[in-house]
Amino acid sequence: MIPYGRQDISLEDIHSVEKALRSDYLTTGPAVGEFEEALCRRVGAGFGVAVSSGTSALHCAVHALGIGPGDEVIVPPISFAATANCVLYVGATPIFADIESDTLCISPDSVAQQLTPKTKAVIGVDYAGQPCDWGRLRAAVPKGVALISDACHALGAEYNNKPVGAIADITVFSFHPVKHITTGEGGMVVTDNETIAEKIRRFRNHGINVGAQERNQRGTWLYDQVELGFNYRITDVQCALGLSQLERLDFFLNRRKEIAATYDQSFRDIDKIRPLSVREGVKHAYHLYVVKVPSELRSSIFESLRNVGIGVNVHYIPIYFHSYYRERFGNQEGMCKNAELSYSQILSLPIHPKLSQTDLESIIKECTKALLNSRNSTIS
Ligand SMILES: *Cc1c(COP(=O)(O)O)cnc(C)c1O
Repeated sequence: MIPYGRQDISLEDIHSVEKALRSDYLTTGPAVGEFEEALCRRVGAGFGVAVSSGTSALHCAVHALGIGPGDEVIVPPISFAATANCVLYVGATPIFADIESDTLCISPDSVAQQLTPKTKAVIGVDYAGQPCDWGRLRAAVPKGVALISDACHALGAEYNNKPVGAIADITVFSFHPVKHITTGEGGMVVTDNETIAEKIRRFRNHGINVGAQERNQRGTWLYDQVELGFNYRITDVQCALGLSQLERLDFFLNRRKEIAATYDQSFRDIDKIRPLSVREGVKHAYHLYVVKVPSELRSSIFESLRNVGIGVNVHYIPIYFHSYYRERFGNQEGMCKNAELSYSQILSLPIHPKLSQTDLESIIKECTKALLNSRNSTIS
């Protein structure tokens, strides 16, 4: 099966990890800080805190804003469940705003409609690697409402020449193996706000105010747990991999862009397959390559491609469709019309740096074949 995404590990990556394994530090050591600094430089952010996953990074972000019971956070339904789960972790309520049908990013107009005096933040997902319309989002919310970018798809993307990481108040990345660069599991929160970064450093380490290394340096056993935190630390071994992977980020981005351009070109004259649009002023990072097909054909195309070993996927089932959300909040079907219609039409085609030209050509051939064999339908 050709996967929709996968990691690309080089000999340099292996050497970097080996070096970390032979060093004095397996968990928090020098590589953690180096990785945080290197990633911050790359995305133009002031402070970075590396953590155990993109999910824990989201939890840290929402916690650091002081969000809790009684508060609301606006999120899009077309995302991985972690985008909304992090709001529940702190006891607040996720409020779903609809998406824009051409990009599947959260709609600033819908966000404006969902605002209440309880709204503390908006989480925008830079879906598939395309930044949200951050200018319109900023304009849509009052001053006290924070903007969080769930940029787990969008490392290396830009919006009006600004890198994702330097736009929202807090930005979150994931280093899961399907993402642009990997540390196995891992994530990072970046921000220009030093107070928020400090809160996250503490939260990732049980809520303790001094790290073990710092205690050693100061020659003291004293530390104080000042709040209830978690063990969300990432290891030096993982950060050694992250540092080495980060050096190849441009190569990864270029290869993804080439694949997307080949798909775009090949589907140009096929009216039953429509790639999502890319907005003016955007540098797309192409974590996913998503097309829309007529709803009534989606399942059959999905199956015919799977049957010939092409690992197509659907990103995502609207979050409020999941049983947990249905049981907790009731059936909210019909709430976000664009999200639900788009969900019925989307397919993610394989895109990752290790995808060979031969595989790419065979995916395009099989997609075209599956559509030619289908009945006459159109994309609504
Ligand atoms: C991958 C992903 C996450 C979660 O990241 P993990 O590192 O797997 O915890 C959150 N949001 C989005 C949009 C993602 O794609």
